[in-house]
Order: sequence, then structure tokens, then C-alpha cells
Amino acid sequence: MSRSEELFSRASKLIPGGVNSPVRAFKSVGGNPLYFERGSGSLIYDCDGREYIDFCGSWGPLILGHARQEVVEAVQEAAENGLSFGTCNPLELEMAELVHSMIPFIEMMRMTSSGTEAVMTALRLARGFTGRPKIIKFDGCYHGHSDSMLVNAGSGLLTGGIPSSAGVTPDTASNTLTARYNDIGTVKALIEANPGAVAAVIVEPVAGNMGLIEPLPGFLQDLRCLCSDNGVLLIADEVITGFRFHPGAYCSLEEIRPDLITLGKIIGGGMPAAALGGRRDIMEKLAPCGPVYQAGTLSGNPVSLAAGIATLKLLAEENPYPRLEAHGKYIADEINGHCSSFCTCNYLGGVFTIFFTPSREIRNLQDVKHSDTSKYAEFFRSMLNEGFYLPPAQFEAAFVSAAHSEREIEFFVSKAVETIKRIG
Ligand SMILES: *Cc1c(COP(=O)(O)O)cnc(C)c1O
Repeated sequence: MSRSEELFSRASKLIPGGVNSPVRAFKSVGGNPLYFERGSGSLIYDCDGREYIDFCGSWGPLILGHARQEVVEAVQEAAENGLSFGTCNPLELEMAELVHSMIPFIEMMRMTSSGTEAVMTALRLARGFTGRPKIIKFDGCYHGHSDSMLVNAGSGLLTGGIPSSAGVTPDTASNTLTARYNDIGTVKALIEANPGAVAAVIVEPVAGNMGLIEPLPGFLQDLRCLCSDNGVLLIADEVITGFRFHPGAYCSLEEIRPDLITLGKIIGGGMPAAALGGRRDIMEKLAPCGPVYQAGTLSGNPVSLAAGIATLKLLAEENPYPRLEAHGKYIADEINGHCSSFCTCNYLGGVFTIFFTPSREIRNLQDVKHSDTSKYAEFFRSMLNEGFYLPPAQFEAAFVSAAHSEREIEFFVSKAVETIKRIG
């Protein structure tokens, strides 16, 4: 028995499914999850001493790779000064000023510990601000695990085969309406069918939780106009996309201004930190200045913020984005060039998904569902054997980090093409 197998069998007795987050289980790819004990740059090492080139990147935060020295030092320095105060601390202001300078439409912001909390608060705030009950989300988008967002959600709920979660009351679910991604007509129809009742539309501006799907040209701009025309707030959930494609929000690249935005993953640099922000008149409705309550014992935690601030500064200084884009493009071009009869590789910047469906345009959840998940499972296991750690599920985004070398990307592509052709 390997050390990972032994640890997993013990963990399964004490932790449901042996995991602290469902996507970590290898349910949709078969076998047992590996236990990892160390990461450095683009590499991670499991408890049996095997080395892997990592394309999961902790599901998104590690855009600089594992254990980047400056980030680790910032954490060490912060930790030595105390792990938490539960008071105001100077790093909160530094983070707010830094984020405001990188995303100017964030007029005010508040830190939370997870993306789930940031989204949950943004929704409550949208309802409190507009006095309206309903939220529109898109099929296959994932916005964390708060009750109202567990309706037609992506990520672990897609491959887990759970359409929505048990324990969410019909009352709660009835206030969440779902539209089709990249299809403005479906949003329009929902707003028209619920006059004066829709508080907000929440969208992943680039969908990442049903695999990577780019917005079609004009989709986000149309969404912005439709919301404004109907007094509906637009919430951009940029937990994945924030700081992913340039040192700012994806919305800024599309020249749209959401009313509220949520950030997570990269903003914590691998530590638990997330944020919501946006228009001042809306953000001022949050307690203690307004009537919408939100709080957190560890919100704005100095150790988490130290990691996040160091990460954002390095991204702004080093501008790894052109390289990430070149790597993503190379991966997609090669795979689409050599394997189009077996799969479709979507990419944007350093983010990509290999959908196991022959070359086609993938624009929404319906298109995604043509993918052969058992083929992905075979691909995943074979690549794992070759020393590549990919997300253990078809409907997820894979991430290239700034620490990946050209050689590693070329090695990955040659093995991926060979593997796809073999299992075709
Ligand atoms: C990961 C994710 C979340 C949830 O963030 P957690 O920190 O896991 O709670 C929310 N929205 C999007 C788009 C995400 O990718």
C-alpha cells in the first residue's frame, strides 16, 4: 500500500469522503486522491516521493507557483508579529489601496476569508440595496456553496452529478433564476417575467467552473446594458478571473463596470482571503454604516493579507501575463491542431480546459455536456502516471503558473497529444 492509500483509508473514517472539499476526491476520475506534502514553483511532491508538474495550482490561487520565496517571507514576517488581532491592522488599508489602484471601479471593498462568503455578502447587499428578492445566475457557473447559489451550479456539482444540493429549501431555490451563459435572450426573458423582482445578475465574466468558456463578443456589454435598463445590479464574480489575465479585473479588459465584484483565490496568494467591492453607494449599505449585516472573526487576517499583497505586487512588477498567454495559446493550438477529432481545447491567458468532445464551439453548459467524462478520466490517470497533476474532473479549468518553464509546457503538450491520440 502506498502512503497516500494508507492516509486516505484512515481519513475516510473521520472525514466525509476522506476530503475537506468534494472536488479533491477522485470520484469522477477513479482511484484514490493523492496526498501532497510539498510544492516548489511548478512542481508538487506526493507523500510517496513522486514529483508532478502541477496544472491545478490549488484551483487557481497559485499564479506565481508554489512557495514563491517573496510570498513565503511576507507570511513569515507577518506571522512573527502575531497571527490575528481581531482589530484594525495596517495591512487592510494597504490591500484596499492596492486593489483600488489596480481595479479603479472598486470604490470601496471589504475582505472576507473565502470566495463563498464574498459572494454571499454581495447577494445580500444587492437585495438590501434594491429591496428585491431574486437573483439570476447562469447554468454551470459556480459561485461558492452558499444556499442560494447551489442551483444549477458548476464545479464539483457538475461532475458529482448533484444538480443542486439537498438541504436547500425550495423557498431559497425559488429566488434563484438560471439563464444560459452567452445567451442574453435568456436573461432578458427572466427579467421580463419577473418585473421589479430581480435584484442582481451574477456572472463569472469568463466561465471557469464548467471548464473554461470565454464570453462571446458583446455578451458582457449586453448584460451590462440590460441590467442598467432594468435597475438590476450586475455582480461580476471574479474569484477566478481577478488578476488572472492582467494586473486587474477581467471586466476592465472588456471595458465594463460591474456594480459589485467579488475577488478570491489570487488575492489571497494561497492563503484564505477574498473580497467584495464596487460602487460606494452600494458598499456603504454594509454594517456598520448601513443596514446590511456582514462580519468575520478572521476577515482581513494579517497573515493572509501579507501573502495576498506580496502576490499582487509581484504580478504588477513582473507582468507574467504575456508569457502565460503564450503558454496557454501554445497548449491549445497544439492540442486542437493534432487532436481535433477527439477533443476541443479552450484557453484564455494561462487557463485552459481540454474537453473530450471533437472540435466544436463550446459556449455554454449544453455544449460542455457533450464531453466524454470517461475519456477525460482515462486521460487524467494516464497523465498522472506520466507525472502531470491536472484537475481531477473534466469540467474544471487547468492553470499554467508563472513558474512553469517553456520546457515543461512543451513536455506536457507532447505527452498530452500522445495520450489523447492513444485513448482517442
Ligand atoms: C472558487 C470560486 C468561488 C468560491 O470561493 P471559495 O474560496 O472556494 O469559497 C466563488 N466563485 C468562483 C467563480 C470560484 O471559482
